[in-house]
Amino acid sequence: MPTDIEIADAAKMQPITEIAQKLGLSSDDIEQYGHYKAKINLPVKEIEGKKHKLILVTGINPTSAGEGKSTVLVGLGDALNQLGHQTTIAMREPSMGPVFGIKGGATGGGYSQVVPMEDINLHFTGDMHALTSANNTLAALIDNYIMRDNALGLDPRRIIWKRVEDVNDRALRNVVTGLGGIMQGVPRETGFDITAASEMMAILCLSESLHDLKKRIGRIVVGYTYDKKPVTVDQLGFTGAITLLLKDAIKPNLVQTLDHTPAIVHGGPFANIAHGCNSVLATQIALKTSDYTVTESGFGADLGAEKFLDIKRPVLGKTPNAVVIVATCRALKLNGGADKNNLTEENLPALQKGMANLRRHVKNMQGYNLPIVVAINHFTSDTEAEIKAIQDACAEMGVKAIEVDAWAKGGEGTQDLAKEVVQLADQKFDFHELYKNSDSIEDKLNAIATKIYGAKRVVLSNKAKKQIKTFDKQGWNKLPVCIAKTQYSFTDDQTKLGAPTDFDFHIRSFVPKLGAGFIVALSGTMMTMPGLAKHPAAENMDIDDQGQITGLF
Ligand code: ADP
Repeated sequence: MPTDIEIADAAKMQPITEIAQKLGLSSDDIEQYGHYKAKINLPVKEIEGKKHKLILVTGINPTSAGEGKSTVLVGLGDALNQLGHQTTIAMREPSMGPVFGIKGGATGGGYSQVVPMEDINLHFTGDMHALTSANNTLAALIDNYIMRDNALGLDPRRIIWKRVEDVNDRALRNVVTGLGGIMQGVPRETGFDITAASEMMAILCLSESLHDLKKRIGRIVVGYTYDKKPVTVDQLGFTGAITLLLKDAIKPNLVQTLDHTPAIVHGGPFANIAHGCNSVLATQIALKTSDYTVTESGFGADLGAEKFLDIKRPVLGKTPNAVVIVATCRALKLNGGADKNNLTEENLPALQKGMANLRRHVKNMQGYNLPIVVAINHFTSDTEAEIKAIQDACAEMGVKAIEVDAWAKGGEGTQDLAKEVVQLADQKFDFHELYKNSDSIEDKLNAIATKIYGAKRVVLSNKAKKQIKTFDKQGWNKLPVCIAKTQYSFTDDQTKLGAPTDFDFHIRSFVPKLGAGFIVALSGTMMTMPGLAKHPAAENMDIDDQGQITGLF
């Protein structure tokens, strides 16, 4: 099997104007970035008579390589179109952090990819850079404000707005700025986050229009005054300038799959340290113009799907008609205690044990009362006995588990799943909310930790307890909670795999994100700036004198 980049390079893409036509968009409705990428001008008109079915693809707790959610998502989009169901994909745009770090790209894999993959995985249409610039312009304006007359009395020790960059860079987690004397600003301790974890990213992904984007930017709390009052971007007067920097980034990007299914790839918050879903605008455009929209949320269903359902869904105003939970034999074996270097060998005892992880994710999605199917992403090392064991366990929970070969066969290998999804999406159901926003912050945390993660209780640090009191006073306690947690475990400890029970779940502190409209709860030792691995993916990458790329996976 050729590598992802070799398959992507050999692709014969259609001009992006032809892909746009599939969504009823003319060349005036898009701004072309070369022949195969475009931004979609806003607003997009709804096409009458569409089915507006939404399919959410999520997964079990992954291995470090990912479980093939994007691969299955792309295969599913292609399969639905092949079967005559007009379908558009909505997915996140990759961050350079994971691309150059450990995980690789986010454009799917094998014969289920979105293209041009090297562009999408690198600078794409510049959204990440625009977000980084908007974020850091605000940081520079804040520092300048403090150095000048600081009319509002912003306390340099209480600035919560950090700088960001789209790279895993542990050396910048904690920094001191403003050193060097009176003309270099007011010295203060701060740090960098990765762009994908920034509030600017969350805002872009939750905005419904340019107007909404501006309102959200204005509401950002950047820090507190000496008498501990919150200060917003509106109060500082920078809302217009920062919104201006995102005037193009707010427009969703249109590309295609290897099989020419339209793919709207926009926004890329991580699901462990952010809310993990592509932009509301991307999903809305797909819904307005298509019978079926297939979208994804990051990492396992404990992170991405929970955040999709509790944070994005209310803004989107649409509940998924069906949920696909992607599982692999290798990740189930890992969750069942198998050696991570030996996941390609048949190991039924480990697989059976690891099934507890899949069971909990299925049960969690059943808790929302959603129609569910499990997709077993087929790897060549899978054995018949392993596949059967997964199917039997799912059958006991009343859920079908369908083998999918999106990676090796594209849409053709995903048609069984597509047929099941079409049936599921016609089912009627009442969505069960996990919590109400009017619940207290503790109750919301408890609902997620006990009902989704399986924890016994939530344990708050003293700092977190104090912060809740402040948030209560500010009236911020009615916002949803976005938990930053390891993707490998249901717990706050990444070494505890499977489906642990009876554990304490620790929250060390909160970060209010008023522009995004949620409160981030930092659990365990989770950091909002990842580091690079001992052998980052970057070691294998190259480009030759002819511009031929290798090692991008
Ligand atoms: P996720 O979305 O869960 O993070 P991806 O779809 O990005 O995972 O896939 C991660 C990597 O695994 C990609 O490089 C992809 O090519 C590879 N991959 C996915 N499915 C398979 C498979 N069935 N067999 C072999 N490799 C696969």
